[in-house]
Amino acid sequence: MHSSLPSIERVAIDTSGGLGSLYNQYSDSIVPTSSRNSLGDTIQIEDPVKCDLIDGRRKKSQNLLALIGMRENARLNTLLNFVPRNRLASIINHPYPMNEYTRLIYYSYTNRKTLPKDAAAFRKLSQPKDRHTDATHIITSFSSGISVTLIIQLVPNDQIVAQVDAVLKKCVRILKGIHKAAPITSNDENLMQQNTSIIAYSNISDLTGVTSLGDVCQFINRRHENAEIFQPLMYYLNPIQPLDPEYAHTNFPSIPIESSCHRKIEEYLLKYLDILKRWKQSLDSKETRILSVGLEEPFYELQRRWLNLKNLYEHDVQLLKVLVNDIRSGRSDTSRVDEIISKKKMQTIYNNKVKSIVEDLRDLEHKEQWIADLIKQKFQYYDLGKFGILQTDSELTIKEKLNLNDPSNRILCASDCLRKNNAKKFNRLHHDLVEQDRKNPASHLIYADFSYCSFPLKDITILSSQDHSEGQKRSKKRGNSSSTSDTINILLLGETGVGKSTFINALANYLIFETLDEAETSQPVVLMPVSFMITTGDHFEEHIVKFGDSDDSSNEDFSHPGQSVTQRCKSYVFHLNDTDQTKLRIIDTPGFGDTRGIEQDHKNMQHILEYINNLTHLNGICFLLKPNSARLHISFQSYLTQLFSLFDTNALNNIIFCFTSARSTFYTPGDTAPLIKTVLTTLSIGNVPFSKKNVFCFDSESFRYLIARQNKIRFDNNEKEEYERSWKTSVSESKRLIEYIRKDITVYPIDNNLQSMKRAQFTILGMVRPILETIRNSLRNLILCSKESVNTRLELDPKVISYPSTSCMLCVPYACLVGRFWVAKTIPHKIENNRCICECSPDQHSPIHYMLNHKLVKNSPKQDRDAISHLLVRLCRACAQFSHFLKHSTDLSNHDPFFVGLIQLISEETHFCNSYEPNDLNTKLVADLRTQQKEYDQHSNEMERKGTHKSLADIYDLINTVRKYPMMHEQLVAINEGQRKMMKLYECEVSRTSRKYVDISDGSS
Ligand SMILES: [Zn+2]
Ligand SMILES: [Zn+2]
Repeated sequence: MHSSLPSIERVAIDTSGGLGSLYNQYSDSIVPTSSRNSLGDTIQIEDPVKCDLIDGRRKKSQNLLALIGMRENARLNTLLNFVPRNRLASIINHPYPMNEYTRLIYYSYTNRKTLPKDAAAFRKLSQPKDRHTDATHIITSFSSGISVTLIIQLVPNDQIVAQVDAVLKKCVRILKGIHKAAPITSNDENLMQQNTSIIAYSNISDLTGVTSLGDVCQFINRRHENAEIFQPLMYYLNPIQPLDPEYAHTNFPSIPIESSCHRKIEEYLLKYLDILKRWKQSLDSKETRILSVGLEEPFYELQRRWLNLKNLYEHDVQLLKVLVNDIRSGRSDTSRVDEIISKKKMQTIYNNKVKSIVEDLRDLEHKEQWIADLIKQKFQYYDLGKFGILQTDSELTIKEKLNLNDPSNRILCASDCLRKNNAKKFNRLHHDLVEQDRKNPASHLIYADFSYCSFPLKDITILSSQDHSEGQKRSKKRGNSSSTSDTINILLLGETGVGKSTFINALANYLIFETLDEAETSQPVVLMPVSFMITTGDHFEEHIVKFGDSDDSSNEDFSHPGQSVTQRCKSYVFHLNDTDQTKLRIIDTPGFGDTRGIEQDHKNMQHILEYINNLTHLNGICFLLKPNSARLHISFQSYLTQLFSLFDTNALNNIIFCFTSARSTFYTPGDTAPLIKTVLTTLSIGNVPFSKKNVFCFDSESFRYLIARQNKIRFDNNEKEEYERSWKTSVSESKRLIEYIRKDITVYPIDNNLQSMKRAQFTILGMVRPILETIRNSLRNLILCSKESVNTRLELDPKVISYPSTSCMLCVPYACLVGRFWVAKTIPHKIENNRCICECSPDQHSPIHYMLNHKLVKNSPKQDRDAISHLLVRLCRACAQFSHFLKHSTDLSNHDPFFVGLIQLISEETHFCNSYEPNDLNTKLVADLRTQQKEYDQHSNEMERKGTHKSLADIYDLINTVRKYPMMHEQLVAINEGQRKMMKLYECEVSRTSRKYVDISDGSS
């Protein structure tokens, strides 16, 4: 079937070929062979220079591969990644589409070497031992020389375009070698430098990376002085079999694909690629302005959607690659191509995804304009999404989160939707504020934008700080700014379903209201919404009781007790009573004994420990249990053990046991007591006190009764009396609990002096990303030191993220060109309802606390190469030491986060090299990262061999040293800030006066 193979020619993307090399026409690759016969005489022919100026205004096709002379089959192999996108073929990675402000200069000079056309000479090429390869052709002639394509992007200014075009024409005359062509002057060069960006694609590596027209012309005009740099450009191939009938093919894909099918696939991929490039160009060019007014969140959303579109593209490429391979080897036929690239699909993608990005970007640009105008009118713009405003917030907590204490604040609250639907009202309020401001320039105008947060703002309103501060004398300090004296911190741990939420609500009310009557006539305190079932009367009638605004089940964060599990720590802060300045912070934790198994318990514990790590102190570590439990969950023991790998034995005295539903056991721990004693005696951590002194028995039933009454459920007198008694007992136990914590327990400080294995482990894990990014950026700066004549360097610029964010390890990174480096841009992924917009599994996401931007600093003072190299050596050694510590001193034996992280960096950089141009600096970076990885491995192996273990104190010394390194510090500060903001986000502070803000569904009037 191969006898009919034609003679062909191919652009030499793989430059390793020469006369007599074997070639596979399907995979477009040189077939490696053992040796080649020496060749007889060859003939040399010089081809005329080809040089063209192509104007983006007139060029219809975006097919850059066809432009440089690649044939159909080779183009498809490049698009589908059968062959690497090397040298000339790397032009397909040009990041932006051709438009009316694009110019291309195509130049090629070739020198052809060919064999005399006699069969004997051909036959000599073929060797018996090479007869069993998958080659189809043999190179009988090839040309070498220089080919370069310059892609020049101009500024959109018609006057300048005309000037630049004149320079480009000059350049083409020079390249064509026209006699007495006018030279490129320094004025021309300046014009080009200031108004264009030039990227060169060439088969000669000296030409890639050149950005000056003068340099290109000079290089090409001197081509004869250094002809040895010429590289193969084109192969002319004859089929092997007619030359050597004995030649036998091994089994390989061999069925050619019809031209029409080629075209179909190529058109589809190019069209898609063009869309991607267009939108990336739009996004990148608008980024600075949109971010400058504070619209980060919606902008990142658009970038995420672009990435999503790109993921779909990569997916299609993969599908088509498999299919083309199947067709070539006869396992499939071309009819299946339509399944993947049907017109309908393209339309759907276009309509649903692209169109909405286009529209949303346009809207965002309008909004940017609009905000810029607001700022001119002296408004400050607040995107409330950034302040952690949630569905469950109230007017009061929103003001608190905005931290607006100045009574002159005037806050105009609206969202895009409300503005659109009620423009009249918005304009009126807006006008009023501007007028007020004119009369009283001391006032402070704020536009609070609710468009990007989940709080359902019902109407456009104006808030001011004034009404908030009336009658409020308490301090506005929030977050963990509490000192040991004014806040009591209690960590509340308990099995899933033990009723922590109800207990917290109940405790707050027991501490505020002496009697049930008092609680009924005032309004109960709502710390978190709950709903539960209660039965009454002789017939056990069932009632669903709601407390607080618990209608929105969509918010998984404030879950209903019993139904779902608290996933992260949340704290509730309230005053002990009306006269006391002391506040109580109860930290609600994910329940242990999770139905999802021990894995989830570990994850929860990890999160709890991270959370505690950010507190200044703990007063009580409280286990909430039920009396008469038949068994204590095994995780109770594991929780205790893990807690005490973070704390030292001084914290043992801070342990407290609380029992709920203790009315049935006459306010004693009942049968649970002996179980606890057994567990405690088996623990190796030390003596945990368990006596009447630190055991407290409550009954949340009386609180449930109170709420049921608020829901207008009737009870008989017996029931009422019983609950009144129960309330009293719980009140006195609550008081005893607080007294005990205040007087008998020593505050347990969590400061920098607390050193433990577990804490060191968390600290190191938190340093992985900063260390790796410091290494990567130091390597970049070393490369810049050696490459650039002007002194430029890249600086890390971390930005705190104030809402829960993750980064996806599977998604293609979003690339930005900073100077001449492609850098990955962090786009935070939000996981909601256990799903991410990127559609990768939540397991593939890891939490991040800061975004990392990169700044190009030009003309910086000369960098000290030695200092950077020195820093790299120390960091690399520190990584190995940290990893050794994690492996041998903690439970993280099979996981080396530094190794995984380095591999991740290498694959990210490799991706940039494969998909974007110019990539010479990134290519160097990949090589340097590989060297780092080798050094890291060496250090690790050496430490393993020597078997020396560092003491905890040594590890802390190392941690403190590494923290102070340049670039590390800023990132670590951002992490701390991010964690603090997250704590604040999940903290609910109930002020004394806020009870009247709470909207109780029924029975509150
Ligand atoms: Zn993803
Ligand atoms: Zn994601």
